[in-house]
Amino acid sequence: MSLPPGSTIGIIGGGQLGRMLSIAAAALGYKCHIFDPHEAPCATDVAAHFTRAAFDDVEALRRFGETVDVVTYEFENVAVEPLAVLGEKLRPSARSLAVAQDRAEEKSFIEACGASVAPWRAVASLSDVEDAVSALGTPLVLKSRRYGYDGKGQVWVRADDEAADAWRAIREQPAVAEAGIGFDAEFSIIIARWADGRHAFWNCPRNEHREGILRRSSVPAGPEIAPHVEAAKASALAIAETLDHVGVLTVEFFATPSGPLVNEIAPRVHNSGHWTIEGSETSQFEQHVRAICGLPPGSTALTGAAAMMDNLIGADVERWPELVAEPGAHVHLYGKGEARPGRKMGHVTRVIRRD
Ligand code: ADP
Ligand code: MG
Repeated sequence: MSLPPGSTIGIIGGGQLGRMLSIAAAALGYKCHIFDPHEAPCATDVAAHFTRAAFDDVEALRRFGETVDVVTYEFENVAVEPLAVLGEKLRPSARSLAVAQDRAEEKSFIEACGASVAPWRAVASLSDVEDAVSALGTPLVLKSRRYGYDGKGQVWVRADDEAADAWRAIREQPAVAEAGIGFDAEFSIIIARWADGRHAFWNCPRNEHREGILRRSSVPAGPEIAPHVEAAKASALAIAETLDHVGVLTVEFFATPSGPLVNEIAPRVHNSGHWTIEGSETSQFEQHVRAICGLPPGSTALTGAAAMMDNLIGADVERWPELVAEPGAHVHLYGKGEARPGRKMGHVTRVIRRD
């Protein structure tokens, strides 16, 4: 069943992903209602309605659910249980959220889907970390099981005697210990899936990170990644199908000599897909709206020969006057306040034309 234009899409989370979803939804004639605990999250600049409440406020969620036709989320660090009041309106379902928000659940799930991840163990004490160091060797990265993003909640162990310091640095919280991977490149597979099982992929981007934060995504992904793409797509599809996922799902990979390794999944639109706004005939945001509203899939063909997206992080955003003056540069500013270091303030996409 498809939702007619004029219907309202509820979005849990009001950051830049919610903002770009709202813009895409508006283009298709939908209204958006943002649910977020902050005072003026940037998505509310472009959405029709806003509920300011805690993510676990069940009463507020119930009222929100009654005023919207479908609910989606742009942020996975929210408690799953309170979302039960949204019932069948939640797309993707709470299962996708539950799997993606706990790194230990996530890794076991990915392995159960037949895909490979870096050697890892769940750790809950210093002796677990020491055992992980002897079993996996160094370098090794500790990642908090929950609430990590943009490299936050991660501590590297570069030598055997650093285990205790690292365990303290991660504040002794349940974590996964993961072998450091000497990858050739990083890339992601972005898939959209419909309730009836239809699905669509985009060309896969190569992703470059600095200090755990995505800096650049570009398509085509290049020769180090090309041999891994078919296997990676099969893994992403298996993950989406096993979750019975509806909407966009992103799977991050490391390209290694022994094949693609899944790094993590995001049950939502993703920073590595921002290039699709101008670089693809249908953006990830529009496609997500299409999938959750039951509209047909849009074409994911490239609009040019290549596309490159650069994030504007912290003070990078001060370059906006020069960027808006650059012919062909597509500048996106998220309307956030202070340009704190590490904060994603905007992005710029350049599409290379076909000859
Ligand atoms: P986040 O949720 O913060 O995106 P990720 O697990 O994706 O966390 O880690 C962020 C980045 O850190 C990765 O994209 C990669 O560049 C680097 N990284 C993470 N895990 C490993 C690893 N096991 N080996 C090497 N690099 C890693
Ligand atoms: Mg990541």
